[in-house]
Amino acid sequence: MPVTVNLRLLEKEETLSLEGELPVAEFGADLRDDLMRFDQPLHYALDLQHQPDSLLLTGSLETSLACECARCLTPFRLPVRVEALTALVALQGEEAVGRDGDFADLTPLLREDIYLALPTNPLCRPDCRGLPQKAVSRDSRLEGAQSDEASPWAALDHIKL
Ligand SMILES: [Zn+2]
Repeated sequence: MPVTVNLRLLEKEETLSLEGELPVAEFGADLRDDLMRFDQPLHYALDLQHQPDSLLLTGSLETSLACECARCLTPFRLPVRVEALTALVALQGEEAVGRDGDFADLTPLLREDIYLALPTNPLCRPDCRGLPQKAVSRDSRLEGAQSDEASPWAALDHIKL
């Protein structure tokens, strides 16, 4: 079920509150990311206020994702919250929200806001140093560089002889 608001009711009541959960299929199935996956419903708590030709939406969104750390690949859960969500939703004109009769569909707006709240690279903790193996391979590359530097000197030794 998408998140919809009955505009006729909103006009009559002036304000409405909506609270509920949006299933993953309605908002998160099209996330294309190797490290992040929506697997929990999106909890929403919204206050709607009737305005001329628009509605003022305020509230909060909350869910959590199954992630792998971008540095160490450890699986972890990432809570994502949008606090103090504010949007003026147009009911008329080109920018108007999608409608089905008296019902305006707020789902695309909520989906956009939760996507904007996602990190570019999920990290298991802010100071994650990554895999220990990476440190080892970096060390061995350093050793390789040192031996390259050593070879001209080795050649020089040969000339001296
Ligand atoms: Zn990590």
